[in-house]
Amino acid sequence: MASAPEVQHTIAKSAGFSGTSLHTGEKVSLKLHPAPADHGIKFKRKDLPDEPTIDAKIENLKMVERATTIGEGSMRVHTVEHVLSALSAMGVDNAIVEMDANEPPIGDGSARAYVDVIKRAGISAQEAPRKFFHVREPMHVETKTGAMLILLPYDNGFRISCTQAGPNNRFTQFMSTDVAPEIFEREIAPARTFVYYEDVEPLMEKNLIKGGSLENAVIVRGDAVLSKEPLRFPDEFVRHKILDILGDLALVGCRIRGHLIAVKPGHAANAELARAIAKEQSRREALAVPRVVPKGDGGLDSDEIIQILPHRYPFLMVDRIISFDEAGTKCIGLKSVTINEPFFQGHFPGHPVMPGVMQVEAMAQVASLLLFKLAKTSSRIGYFMSADDVKFRKPVLPGDTIFIHAELTKARGERLAKAKCHCVVNDAIVSEGELMFTFLDK
Ligand SMILES: [Zn+2]
Repeated sequence: MASAPEVQHTIAKSAGFSGTSLHTGEKVSLKLHPAPADHGIKFKRKDLPDEPTIDAKIENLKMVERATTIGEGSMRVHTVEHVLSALSAMGVDNAIVEMDANEPPIGDGSARAYVDVIKRAGISAQEAPRKFFHVREPMHVETKTGAMLILLPYDNGFRISCTQAGPNNRFTQFMSTDVAPEIFEREIAPARTFVYYEDVEPLMEKNLIKGGSLENAVIVRGDAVLSKEPLRFPDEFVRHKILDILGDLALVGCRIRGHLIAVKPGHAANAELARAIAKEQSRREALAVPRVVPKGDGGLDSDEIIQILPHRYPFLMVDRIISFDEAGTKCIGLKSVTINEPFFQGHFPGHPVMPGVMQVEAMAQVASLLLFKLAKTSSRIGYFMSADDVKFRKPVLPGDTIFIHAELTKARGERLAKAKCHCVVNDAIVSEGELMFTFLDK
């Protein structure tokens, strides 16, 4: 029996708290606000003119030294990982994190304050389905500092198995846990930031961590552990490493279904994995094709196509337009390649392979249909002018179905347009290119 799909969540009402900022030592207040479905997590700088917002997304990552910083233009938000960790692990997909400084309050160096504010705000279900990244094949990231992250397929949710090791392998700790709100709140969120004395000494001298104290971090000096409050868990350090991983991987913008094996993780390695996941995700989106080809509304059938395109047998290279996107700047066409195609007779006898130039022609025809739909006129016709960055990656054979993707990337005045196109067969890109068109009156 198929269970109901998981839905997105936001917080039920606004809630906030104030505290000290780690780097400047100044007072900062943070407020969480509800946000609509598909909004994701955004930070809002209330202290800046026009109160700019920024997506908590990996493409906005700016720095990974000591803490994770995102930014856009000259605007920065520092130390985003603890609040993102709490939002993600507690099940909040959409929210605005409003602050009146360039970083959230550090609290006690753990994610406890954020869990508290999320629980005060409450969590509310939305209608849209949750977005997931399912790990299908092992992924792997390694850094020069010895960090290693391996992401494996795992169907039962998100699991992290983490090994942390300090200098000379002191304080080596291991923990393996599923990621779920109750577990996070009890086992992970209370774990505090820890630092090695030799790392923070120069920062203290330069006065770069004005808000840092034994109240918001555990300091390790040699074999000694210094903190105002005793360790909350014997293995508090590995728990905080897991907390940081969850915060950094939240920058992917969707939920991970997989098992992460993390050895000596750090912000740089976590960010690199987040980037790899985002890249794999956009590659999959480029390949996504409908499993059922819809008919009728939303696309064009072959009758409608020949009313627009002047091409005829044997040169009509598109059977149907499956869909246009809402903005009308993207569409997907379909071409079924049969052994009866005339070009197979000569290309090549006894070894039928679809000529690459015919695939470029198919892309050009689909792009023309897209431009026609945008211009909404049949009095002008788009002429194919040039093709850049054309690549043929795999042979197309009789029996293949080609999904031809076209996206309008540039329109200059009334006369010129550029479209990025690629052809997909069996979930693989077989050819691609950027095509330029000019419009002429018929
Ligand atoms: Zn941390």
